[in-house]
Parts: sequence; structure tokens; C-alpha cells
Amino acid sequence: MPNNAGELLKKVRSDSHYIERGGVGILVSDRLLAEPGLTHGFTTRRGGVSAPPFDSLNLGTSRDEPIENILENYRILCGAYGLDYDELALVRHEHGSTVLRLDRSHCGRGISREPLDFSDGLVTNDPGVTLVTCHADCSAFFIYDRAARSIGLAHAGWKGMYKRIGQRLAERLVSEYGADPKDMIAVIGPCICEKCFEVETEIAEDFAREFDCPDIFTPGEKPGKAYVSLHAAAVIQLIDAGIDPDSISVMRHCTMEEKELFYSYRRDGRETGSMAAFLRLR
Ligand SMILES: [Zn+2]
Repeated sequence: MPNNAGELLKKVRSDSHYIERGGVGILVSDRLLAEPGLTHGFTTRRGGVSAPPFDSLNLGTSRDEPIENILENYRILCGAYGLDYDELALVRHEHGSTVLRLDRSHCGRGISREPLDFSDGLVTNDPGVTLVTCHADCSAFFIYDRAARSIGLAHAGWKGMYKRIGQRLAERLVSEYGADPKDMIAVIGPCICEKCFEVETEIAEDFAREFDCPDIFTPGEKPGKAYVSLHAAAVIQLIDAGIDPDSISVMRHCTMEEKELFYSYRRDGRETGSMAAFLRLR
């Protein structure tokens, strides 16, 4: 039986709520929040020192904004949510499916020290390092194996999603730390939604084939265009990795539509900032 995107998205739990501390607004998953051994979040644009059009919590280092502002925003985020600024390690996106194993020797990479090697996913079992990824329409994968006490965090643009970066992340937790998909909890971050993510029909058909899911896209109003559900692609690859659908949840927001909360590359081009996802063991 092929996958049915509509059914799958109904089956997985919608799981996010907005919290604000020290003026810094983030989304959290109730399911991950219930885990005592973990700190996590997905930032919004609220808080921070960035001026328009990057207002105000831009955490993307590749934008045309003074780096001092971005580093100050990281300090503000850390102060609000009890993270140690010196323990952050920031992914350096490749829009692929490479996953890096990190430990405390990587603290500061991409922030106060040289960047990490190119990758889209990070895994660790070291409570001394905080994993960080950046997002502007691109989704995130948070995976926690509570038995093997290991975590993975990934950035998933459409290319990485197509290359199954979420599945690669789960597989890497298995190969590095002896994690078991049966013990994993996975949360998928907000992204550009299936009503807004317009692509060439050819790409949409590639998604349908790759994920064995005919309804992963709907035809667009314009000829040659279609709309793809990245959240469906995310759920299917986690199930393919062996994770129980009951252990998967989705932050069901649209970064393009919700301008008050999110930066969106599709909506604003380079005149926009980036949100960040963070995950650490404690
Ligand atoms: Zn949308």
C-alpha cells in the first residue's frame, strides 16, 4: 500500500506551544518538554536586537547583518533559556544528508570558533555540547533516544528532506550510540506548508516516488507547478527509519504565512533572518 499523506498527518500528534522568557519567544514540544533529561526549542523572531528587515532575533550568520548583532542574539537566547553560550555548536548547512558526530571538543564551532564541516545533521551523547541548526522555511528534526541517552538535530530544506536527512539522523544514532528506533521520540519543526510550498511539477513527482506517496503533492493553479507537503515527507522517512508513528509529532506552523512569528526565505528573499533550533542533554 502506498503512503497516504492526509492519513499520516492526521495520525501524528500536532505538538507545539509558544513560550516567552525575557522577551524571547520560542516554540517547544510538550512531548520533549516532558523529558527531564533534555533542553530544546525552536526560536521565533521575537526578542533580540536586530533591526528591520532582520527584526529582531536573527540567528543566521549568513545574512547581511553585522555579526555582533547575531552573536548578541545568541547571548540573549542563552540567557533566557539557561544555555551556556560557550557550549553552542552551529551547523554549517550543505542541503544534503551528511550527519556529524559532535562532543564537547566542538563547543563554540560556528559561533566563537571556526565553522564545523558542511553537514545538515548533528548527533551527540555528550551533555557538554548544545546542538544548533538554522531555519528560514526549512524544517527541523529533533530526535531523542531516552534509553541510549543520545540526541540528533537536523536542518531540512527541501533538498535535505528529499535526501532523507531525518532518516539518516536516526540511523546515525543507531550506528554511533546503539540507539533503537523503538526508544526514539521525534519532533518535526515548523516549515513552509503544503499550501505555500510551490515547486516544479517534476520535483513534486520526484517526492511522490521517493516517499511512495501519491498525495504528497497537489497540482498548482499555474501550469507546471505543484504544492508539496514537506511535513508528510518528514513523517514518512521517520517511520521508514523504524520510529513508531505514536512517537512522532509535528509543530504544525507555516513559516511563510505566520510573519509575526517566523522569518521566511520564500516570502522575503535575502531580506530576512533565520530562526534556530537547539537541543542538548542535561
Ligand atoms: Zn503556508
